[in-house]
Amino acid sequence: MSLGSIDNPLRVAVVGAGPAGFYAAGHLLAADGLAVEVDMFDRLPTPFGLVRAGVAPDHPKIKSVTRVYEKTAARQEYRFFGNVCIGEDLAHEDLLRHYHAVLYSFGAETDRRLGIPGEDLPGSWAATQFVAWYNGHPDYRELEFDLSRRRAVVVGNGNVAMDVARMLVLTPAELAVTDTADHAIEALSRSQVEEVVILGRRGPGQAAFTNPELRELGELTQADVVVEPFELDRHSARAIEVEGELTARRNVEILRDFAARAPSGKPKRVVLRFLVSPVAIRGDGSVEAVELVRNRLEHGGEGAIRARATDEHETIDAGLVFRSIGYRGVPIEGVPFDEWKGTIPNEEGRVVDPEAQRAIPGLYVAGWIKRGPSGVIGTNKRDAQETVEHLLADAREGRLPRPERPARAALAELVAERKPDHVEYPGWELIDAAEQASGEPHGRPRVKFTQVADMLEVAGRTSRV
Ligand code: NAP
Repeated sequence: MSLGSIDNPLRVAVVGAGPAGFYAAGHLLAADGLAVEVDMFDRLPTPFGLVRAGVAPDHPKIKSVTRVYEKTAARQEYRFFGNVCIGEDLAHEDLLRHYHAVLYSFGAETDRRLGIPGEDLPGSWAATQFVAWYNGHPDYRELEFDLSRRRAVVVGNGNVAMDVARMLVLTPAELAVTDTADHAIEALSRSQVEEVVILGRRGPGQAAFTNPELRELGELTQADVVVEPFELDRHSARAIEVEGELTARRNVEILRDFAARAPSGKPKRVVLRFLVSPVAIRGDGSVEAVELVRNRLEHGGEGAIRARATDEHETIDAGLVFRSIGYRGVPIEGVPFDEWKGTIPNEEGRVVDPEAQRAIPGLYVAGWIKRGPSGVIGTNKRDAQETVEHLLADAREGRLPRPERPARAALAELVAERKPDHVEYPGWELIDAAEQASGEPHGRPRVKFTQVADMLEVAGRTSRV
């Protein structure tokens, strides 16, 4: 029986139910002339990764991408095992015993560090924590952000920094129609934050945010956007000359428009600063101020433009700091990990043993754990396709290992034994329907469950007394 025949289907475990995992599953199940079965695992009872726990709640259209994933999930050959943590409930070795191939797509769970004094003071947060909190991720629901402070600083010039700044100044009415977690709506509606200062270490022409996200800062109901013209005049021409690409050019145009505006007297402000880096976060027991150094731009190798610190310093008072300088992957036991990049070493999605310098048969990656935390949701489609093409070629050319227990039922038995309260796709559908039903009377897309116990109860996995 050749691999991929009806009697001997190619069995693939996909670990991580975010966009990369779903695109990979979709590509696998569309394989020409091969019978494929996909089991997808997620440590949460809910699928969709950062579409659920990362995308800003005031961007509901972006979330409609889940309809594509739902089509994949409706396939007979697809199964979902939520509330199952690979590395805890099941080991990497368990997967190797049950599947011809394992594809990791669990993203980048933690944050990058600034490495400056005061980074761990109360009031200094990773943006990733704030994002997960307002999106109702069960692991972050207990966090308490002191929003009684007047000024917040957001470090970083990416789209996550834009999301964080916007969420801090949305009106209660704007929040009320979103799927922002209830605990966050309550806290943000009482927020005293009047000014959000976003710090870019390089110039306007090197910012990582994209045009629509930047433009949105100029359309906020209760906040004026502020850009000091001198910060643009000093740096933008050079930025364009070197960077040259369309997004950067447009960003600079939008920023020029912002700089030309007179404040309209809205009660809050979002201030964009450039060419400054935090060198210390100061405070007696909690964040009180951020010490900045001014940077200048210089050419690095291969056309790169770097920020180089000058000896000009300034201090700004602030009671909250959000470090929004990128996500970072975490390792999984038994799988190689590149500590420097925070990714699993791979060649176009085939996991590579760094010592032997060759691909490990049957092991693949897609998404942020493959390429690092970059790109929009759609980027993962091409990324997953590249990986899956290699996986299918390996299957067709007989390069995949033979697992001990490839039967579909054998895996289901193992999961039932190790994690009796796991949630399969019909369980998620019950959670989904209940969330949407709670949101409907309030004109909200859903009211999220933020506790795993509540999700399990709705999914019929536990009954609470
Ligand atoms: P990002 O786009 O990589 O931006 C990270 C920012 O942090 C950059 O401006 C970077 O500056 C800065 N940075 C890095 N190290 C720093 C340091 N030590 N000090 C000061 N600044 C530092 O990352 P992200 O914002 O976390 O977003 C991740 C991905 O998700 C991106 O591809 C983003 O577009 C995507 N995303 C998209 C949306 C959307 O489409 N609406 C929303 C959220 C996220 P340098 O450039 O100088 O390194």
